[in-house]
Amino acid sequence: MKKVVERALEKYPAKVFKSRKEHIIIKENEDEVPEITANTRTIPGIITNRGCCYAGCKGVVLGPIKDMVHIVHGPIGCSYYAWGTRRNKAKVIDGEKNFLEYCFSTDMQESDIVFGGEKKLRQAIKEAVELFNPKAITISATCPVGLIGDDINAVAAEAQKLYGIQVLAFSCEGYKGVSQSAGHHIANNNLMKHVIGIGDMKPKKYSINILGEYNIGGDGWEIKRVLDKIGYNIIAIMTGDGSYEDIKNAHKADVNLVQCHRSINYIAEMIETKYGIPWIKANFIGVKSTIETLRYLANYFGDDMLIEKTEEVIKEELADIEGQMEYYKEKLQGRTAFLYVGGSRSHHYQELLKDLGVETIISGYEFAHRDDYEGREVISTIKTDADNKNIEEIKVEKDEKNYRVILSKERYEKLKKEIPLSYYGGIIKAMNKNSVIIDDLNHYETEEFIKILKPDMFFSGIKDKYVVQKMGVMSKQLHSYDYSGPYAGFKGALVFARDVAAGVYTPAWKYVTPPWKTEPMIEGTLEEEGEAC
Ligand code: SF4
Repeated sequence: MKKVVERALEKYPAKVFKSRKEHIIIKENEDEVPEITANTRTIPGIITNRGCCYAGCKGVVLGPIKDMVHIVHGPIGCSYYAWGTRRNKAKVIDGEKNFLEYCFSTDMQESDIVFGGEKKLRQAIKEAVELFNPKAITISATCPVGLIGDDINAVAAEAQKLYGIQVLAFSCEGYKGVSQSAGHHIANNNLMKHVIGIGDMKPKKYSINILGEYNIGGDGWEIKRVLDKIGYNIIAIMTGDGSYEDIKNAHKADVNLVQCHRSINYIAEMIETKYGIPWIKANFIGVKSTIETLRYLANYFGDDMLIEKTEEVIKEELADIEGQMEYYKEKLQGRTAFLYVGGSRSHHYQELLKDLGVETIISGYEFAHRDDYEGREVISTIKTDADNKNIEEIKVEKDEKNYRVILSKERYEKLKKEIPLSYYGGIIKAMNKNSVIIDDLNHYETEEFIKILKPDMFFSGIKDKYVVQKMGVMSKQLHSYDYSGPYAGFKGALVFARDVAAGVYTPAWKYVTPPWKTEPMIEGTLEEEGEAC
């Protein structure tokens, strides 16, 4: 397989070949975890799928917080292209605010670049306060802001004083770091520094937070439905259908469930250090994974009532979907998949595909780090390069007033052996022998690997969907869910199974190759000699 991969990359110039082959690994043995190169600069001109730091900060983490006004400081493009395109849904609660339908931009012009955009930003905040009266405001910087030296932190501090609400500045200029990942980190830092911990609600029993769940297509609601049924009290979801008020109280929970490790592991770690709240790596994508996660959580609390109720709910939920899941499994069993998503779904969806008898033979991430591939045990060996050095690393201290010992040391150590407590094992361990793992996949490699490995289905995003469908391979978006969903939890698994089966069995695939390419189409009769006119 290694030779096949190298042959696919032979067309690259020597320097590109040398770099790209470190981002592509083969898992040669079942229990092997080979090292991969990740989170490094994108090669210019290679047609990457990656986005920018602003997309990771405002687009992913901040954008879904519904009761904050998110002002984008920059020219209009950054706002416009991100307006309503990520399907993080939110419900309006009576009397509460929801600004998700809007797109707030300072719409910088040439004169703002020349003379500075701070004046315009001040005016934008003033208008937002007067027109919308929000509880808090975020300001996200885009590329030119850092280059011309606008001091968004000073403007935010000044506005905070003037209007008496929190105004948070995020220096997430698109060129920082190498991908969306830097933006996640910047958003995590500021939420931790300024929002988490300032609330004073009284928590109920079995209080939890869900971190790194963005409610795409209603995923978070499906997860919440099941957790509510068991009897948990969700304090905050970060950040799908999330609210500023809830995030303020996140330090009151007894445990954090981490769905997307990449985008939120910083907050999970910092909450544990500062408030003593451990986290569990969750996966609500897939029936088996959802059951496993529910059992981890019940085991964490160790409460007999909760354990019993968990099993009862699992039984009920399975009874609802089992027959239909079996039907779709029969339709899809034995097929192969190629997954390429941002920083977590390529792992999560392998589990759901396994439920349906589909094997993932090739997968990868746009912007994951080595720990998302190889597991958190490698974090101490990860080298920070020049491109990532400008992302602030914040250190938090134990909060003497609010720190709680939730698990005794002995119980913590015991649980660590039973459940993924404050640990994530990464994608490679979940994959089979001989599978291929690719970091920062590009257009050329997408086509090459589809030709070589011939997967039956491809799961990725909007940019590569139609390229792949034109190659005759069913392609489904795992960022937007092709405008369907939810795909999480029990009911979501069934929606996914139905969508994938519908995609694979679409009659149009039979017409990709025109009939004259496979069978002779010339029709006619032979005339007797002399009869022709
Ligand atoms: S790279 Fe810069 S200009 Fe492009 S979307 Fe990101 S912040 Fe905006």
